[in-house]
Order: sequence, then C-alpha cells, then structure tokens
Amino acid sequence: RSKEKGGNSYHYYHPEMNKRSMHRLSLEINLRKALERNEFHVYYQPFVDLSHGEIFGMEALIRWFHPEWGMVSPAEFIPLAEETGLIIPIGNWVLRQACIQNKKWQSLGNHPLRVSVNISAIQFHQPQFVQIIEDTLEETGLDPSLLCLEITENVAMTNVPYIIETMQKLRSMGVFISIDDFGTGYSSFSYLKRFRVHTLKIDQSFIRDVTFDEENAAIVTALIAMAQQLKIKSLAEGVETKEQLDFLIMRGCDEIQGYVFSKPISADEFEILLRENKQLSII
Ligand code: C2E
Ligand code: MG
Ligand code: MG
Ligand code: MG
Repeated sequence: RSKEKGGNSYHYYHPEMNKRSMHRLSLEINLRKALERNEFHVYYQPFVDLSHGEIFGMEALIRWFHPEWGMVSPAEFIPLAEETGLIIPIGNWVLRQACIQNKKWQSLGNHPLRVSVNISAIQFHQPQFVQIIEDTLEETGLDPSLLCLEITENVAMTNVPYIIETMQKLRSMGVFISIDDFGTGYSSFSYLKRFRVHTLKIDQSFIRDVTFDEENAAIVTALIAMAQQLKIKSLAEGVETKEQLDFLIMRGCDEIQGYVFSKPISADEFEILLRENKQLSII
C-alpha cells in the first residue's frame, strides 16, 4: 500500500510483495531522479555508407549510469519510462542533447552528419510533438536535414490519419524519418509507402545469423530489394562480422551500423573517430 503526501509517496511493503515488483518500484523511484541528478548520458554509434565506407551519421543512444548499480541498459528502463510517462522529459532531453552535440560537430568543421534520435510512440503521439521538434531545432540552431527521427512500426498501430499528417509536417520541415527494427512489429507494407519514410532499418535479429540461416538471408535480401524499389534507403542494424558485411554489400544494402565498425561511444570518443576520419574498408 502507498499513500500520497505532499507529492512524495511513502511505500509500505507487504510481505507478499514479490521481488519483481520491488525491483520495479526501486527502478522507478531511481528513474524519476535520474534526470536532475545528471545520471543520463548520450552515446553515439556511427552509421556507415556502404558506397564509400564513410561515416554519414550516428544514432543517439541513451545511457544511464546509476551511482550504485552502474550502467542500466535502456532495454530495462525505456519500457518503464514509457509506462510511467517519464519518457517524455527523458526523450526531450535526449533530443536536445543530440541536436546540441551535432551542431557542435558542425561548427568544428566536420562534413554534415545526420543524428538519429529514437522516438517512442508516446512521444510521437503528443499533440505538440511537431512543435517540440521545431522549437528544439530553432533553439539549438541545427539544420533540420541533419536530424532524423527513428520510429518503430508500433507507432503506426493507431490513428493513421494523425501519423500521416505528422510525418508530412516533419518532412516539409526537412527532418528525416527512419523506421526502426523493421520486420519485428506490426507492419503493413502499404504504411511504408503512405508514411514516405527515408530509411528502413532492418532489425538486428535478421542480421545476426544472416550468413547461416537461409530464412533470414531470404528476408534480408527481400527487404533490401523492396527498399530499393520504393526508393527508400536500407540500413542494416547490428552488423558484427566481415561475413555479414560482405553479404549486405552483395545484396546492395545502402548503410550499416554495428560492432564491425564501432560500438556506441561517448561524444568525446566519437569526436576522435571524426578527427581520425575512420573509414570502413569495403573491398
Ligand atoms: P535500437 O534503437 O534498435 O538501437 C540499436 C541497439 O542495437 C542499441 O542498443 C545498440 O547498442 C545495439 N547494437 C548496435 N550495433 C550492434 C551490434 O553489432 N551487435 C549488437 N549485439 N548490438 C548492437 P541499446 O543502446 O542497448 O538500446 C536498446 C534500445 O533501447 C534501442 O534499440 C531503442 O529501442 C532503445 N533506446 C535507446 N536509447 C533510446 C532513447 O533515447 N529513446 C528511446 N525512446 N529509446 C531508446
Ligand atoms: Mg534506433
Ligand atoms: Mg533498431
Ligand atoms: Mg533494436
């Protein structure tokens, strides 16, 4: 049982309250404080263009460094942030950091880089979402074409007219849009056409054993070909090996992200990659 008092809640544990809900509760309490305690950081993972092997952009990935627990995986706290609504302030913070950082890299004279930010369905469905994007771009001075929003297929499960309208507004601003984890959610192929996304990100579950699982090889081959026909860029997620890379190059995949090139790294480490002009050897 818990009771509210002056905005703070006091929790009395019942013996039958199981370990899982205790864990969840403690995670939630800590998550609520993490922003103001500056426990979040944004890491960046390079995107590489397979036509020339150069970094053309990066995905912003949140990291939570808890003072006692150490690094907590986003796979653990993002779902909870979504359930509790905390994803709104956290997501806005990531968006802002990513824009500020990319603007900084631009002012240092780097070639244009597009930063991709993950957007949860709850964020996307806020009525003021487009305004938040506009305001953040204006405040940070980042060119809209250097921002990409990654949404999953699940965003598109409800209120299709709203999604089409929102996507259209974002497009006309010049912001890019990717479909993340493609193939794992509820996809209707017609959505791809109606939403007119720029990039289809093929989920890493298909890439993982693409070189020894015939079904996955067939799915990846078909997704790359479909993207090509729809004039959408294809990006393979979670590429770890040279063999996977060769497979993707053979099939005409446009872009990759994965440990084969770099893990997600801090902004400082990313800056070193840029300075060294690190490239992927693709022959
Ligand atoms: P995602 O958007 O699909 O991000 C890609 C995930 O794949 C990242 O996990 C990345 O570290 C991992 N990855 C990249 N290359 C490889 C590889 O070669 N091998 C393997 N095994 N993994 C690779 P991460 O950073 O743990 O994030 C997990 C998920 O959490 C993300 O999946 C995304 O759905 C969510 N997430 C992360 N940051 C944010 C955020 O700022 N906002 C929201 N809403 N979600 C986020
Ligand atoms: Mg993503
Ligand atoms: Mg993904
Ligand atoms: Mg994923």
